[in-house]
Amino acid sequence: MNGFLLKRIIKISVIVIVVAAAGVGLLNLTFVQEHPLVKETAHRFESVKTPLPPSVLHYYNEPAVSLENIHIRALYLVPQDAQGSIPEGWPRMMATALSKLADFHHTQFGEASRVTFSLLEKPVVITDDVFNVLPAGIERAERKDISALDDYLKEHVYSSRGEYYDGEFGVVPENTFMVDVLFLEAAGAVGGNGFVLLARDYVTDPDIFYGMTFLYHEFGHALGMPDRYIYEAEGAYQKGEVLSQDIMGGGRYRPLELTHIDDSIKAAMGIAQQ
Ligand SMILES: [Zn+2]
Repeated sequence: MNGFLLKRIIKISVIVIVVAAAGVGLLNLTFVQEHPLVKETAHRFESVKTPLPPSVLHYYNEPAVSLENIHIRALYLVPQDAQGSIPEGWPRMMATALSKLADFHHTQFGEASRVTFSLLEKPVVITDDVFNVLPAGIERAERKDISALDDYLKEHVYSSRGEYYDGEFGVVPENTFMVDVLFLEAAGAVGGNGFVLLARDYVTDPDIFYGMTFLYHEFGHALGMPDRYIYEAEGAYQKGEVLSQDIMGGGRYRPLELTHIDDSIKAAMGIAQQ
């Protein structure tokens, strides 16, 4: 069976499971590019590591970029034709998810770094020409030019004349590393330098038990952390091809409270080993 077909079958079978468990009303696309959706439980749980001694966290392999203070600006992007799918209570669910992200970060890095966030409590409706530049969908992300999104947000969210403008939201604290977290009303899960794009289902659908883990995994990429599993070409994912059992590797399909960040990643971010 070729990989593409396999992925489609996995996708279809998971849709059936989600429909059965949650009812049609909650169904939405939740699938990712970089990780074909595999609902498997971890073979081996490791206990969450205790925080290492305080020092200042820095960007992965970039000691000049301090991560002592990280601020998340979180937005909910909704394509025009998906406005009917906006779930009741989404701001509370997203704020809870971001709090859990900050808590996990604290369990891993202790006083070496702190995460704050602000969430725009108004869905940002995006036009098709903006949606089309996003690395959304179930295929593995490639490098994409998302300047059309940047321009759109500058005009509609961050300009005082924009219809989504909220002065408080746009305020960037000083000496802070900014991460834009964009929850999307469509499929997707990618993270890159200072940027996360994630299907909102991960943080609103409790059946996706590793949803919070994916949020932090992509956030890890936003801080420069590399994948710790091997994904070669389209459909080439094979069980067991993991370089570590932490959140960037095999642990990415575990509940957040049962995973951790590998010591080798912490070392590359300036955190001394015990
Ligand atoms: Zn990844």
